Parts: sequence; C-alpha cells; structure tokens
Amino acid sequence: MVMYTSCFCILVLRAMPQCSFSESKPWLGKYFYVNSWFHQFWACVKQCEETGCVGQKCFPHCKFSSDGASINGPWYMQEPLYLQWKKWDCLSDCRYNCMVDREIKRDALGHGPVKYHGKWPFIRVYGIQEPASVAFSVLNLAMHFHGWLSFFILLYYKLPLKQTKKAYYEFSPLWHIYGFLSMNSWFWSAVFHSRDVDLTEKFDYSSAVALLGFSLILAILRSFNVRDEAARVMVAAPLLAFVTTHILYLNFYKLDYGWNMKVCVVMAVAQLLIWATWAGITRHPSRWKLWVVVFGGALAMLLEIYDFPPYYGFLDAHAIWHATTIPLTYIWWSFIRDDAEFQTANMLKKAK
Ligand SMILES: [Zn+2]
Repeated sequence: MVMYTSCFCILVLRAMPQCSFSESKPWLGKYFYVNSWFHQFWACVKQCEETGCVGQKCFPHCKFSSDGASINGPWYMQEPLYLQWKKWDCLSDCRYNCMVDREIKRDALGHGPVKYHGKWPFIRVYGIQEPASVAFSVLNLAMHFHGWLSFFILLYYKLPLKQTKKAYYEFSPLWHIYGFLSMNSWFWSAVFHSRDVDLTEKFDYSSAVALLGFSLILAILRSFNVRDEAARVMVAAPLLAFVTTHILYLNFYKLDYGWNMKVCVVMAVAQLLIWATWAGITRHPSRWKLWVVVFGGALAMLLEIYDFPPYYGFLDAHAIWHATTIPLTYIWWSFIRDDAEFQTANMLKKAK
C-alpha cells in the first residue's frame, strides 16, 4: 500500500520537471529567456564546472585538466569510476550552490522559490539533499521491518503450524516477498533523497515499480482468495512480464517520466479499487483497517498533487507525504497479521 503511494509520489514529483522553471521556454521570447532566472542558473552551473567556483566558494571535486583527467592526486584518483564520481560531485555542488545563490537573490527581490530539475530548493544537511524525506524514508523502512518481523513471529511462534512445520496461512510467502520489496524500495528512496544522480534515481524508480507491480498481484490474489498454484501463476505471469519489461525499458532504453507515471498511476488505482471493493463486500473482522489504509492513502496523495515548496528549506509536501505513510504502514501490517490469524482459525475450524 505504501508502495503505490511511494511510486506515485516519486513519479508525480519527478515527472513534472517540464512544468517547472527548470526548462528553457523559447516560446516566451528571446528577451525573457535570456533574462530569466533559469538562464542565469545555467550560466552559473556552466561557469562553475569550468572554474570550480561559485562566487568566492570553490570545490575540490571540480579540478580537472582539459582532457577530463583529475589534477593532482594519486593513481587511484585517475581511475574512470572515481573520476565519474568526482564529476557527479562537482556537478552536484555546482548546481546546489548556484541554486542557493539564485534563491537568495530571488528572495531579496521578494520572489518565491522555483523548482530546479523538478525539485524544490532544499537546504543540505551534511551533504544530504532532502534531510526530511530521507528521515521519513528510513522511518518507513523501520516500520516495514517491524511489521514484517511481528508477522513472522506471529506465524511461526504463536500460531499453530502444520505437521510439515509450514504455516496454515497460505499467503505468507507472498507477504514475505512484499516485506522485502517494501524495505528495498524505502532503502533506495532514502538513498535517492540523499543524493540525486542518474544511478540512484534508476534504483529508486525500479524498486518502486517492482513493489507496485507485486502489490497489485498480491491485491488480486488475496481479495479473490486465489489459493490454487496454477491459478496464481496465471494471474502473476502476465503482470510480472509487464513489470519486468517496464523496468528494463526505464533502465536501458529511456527513463520516460510521463509514461512511467501513467503505468504507476494505473497500477496504483487498480489495487486501490480492488482493496476498496473487497473491503466493502468481505465479512473480514479487520476490514476497517483496510478502509483506513485505502482512504488514508488516497488523502495522502492529495499532498503530492498540492505540492507546496519546503518550509524553511526543509519540509515540503513530498516529505510530509512520506511521513503520513508511516502510521498507515503500521495499520497495514496489523491488518496482515489479523488476516493471518483469521485465515488460520478458519482453516483449523474446517479441518475439525
Ligand atoms: Zn520520495
């Protein structure tokens, strides 16, 4: 549940750089373009990459010779991978400091903040780009770990087991995979919000899509109570094939934000509708928890649509959205535990 929102948010935020000031707008006329804040920002970044300085501030990562090799440094600093890191660091420092420079000047003139590369201007803390989003991502991860661990303990230490030492609850392997994919996704979310480069962005997107796709499969299998192995494969195979192709497409062909957003929104809305419909029909004793998560998740999505700039350079809509999924995750895993207990009790009743 967290996942689709996670994906949705990531997508909406990053799918919209074309709506922000971070793209040149030739249709606004050459005069405006040349004088736009954005043009100044790019000129600053370009100059910084050449000189390694913004105003009085200079960055050690930006020292390259004309052929792109690192100036002064031992042999290992001449390695291509290390040089690539240095260039990323240099570009990142240049973008950040040019942005801060620009925002201070804009503020002095009474202008509000604008987006850079599809993101609001944040104040870095120890080199972390979006500290609030990182902190909330880590808390989400911790919440999933706690949820999964308590589910595991309930299944194997509290509820009765079959003679084969397997749990009665037939959806347990699916929830274990779900737990792993959720933790993986929040881990990359934390990494991406710490440092936004191509590689971290791809890991973040890929893991969010994988989680979203898998949770859709899970929504179908659980709500229709699909227990037969062959039927499960019939449902899962086409979805897994699609999600795998989509991830390969994003990573190795084109990171198409618009298309990715459509894919994620369709998968998210589909599972939301499935859970909501099921919650409406089922006699499940914990269906109210489903309602809370479905409605809570939908309301939280509004934050992403509203998308306000950060208060004091820290707390923006996206970060608050990540914060709202923390209690929802707690309720969600509590529903999963209740479901395991409920189903186990049912099966034991039938067995008698
Ligand atoms: Zn995020």
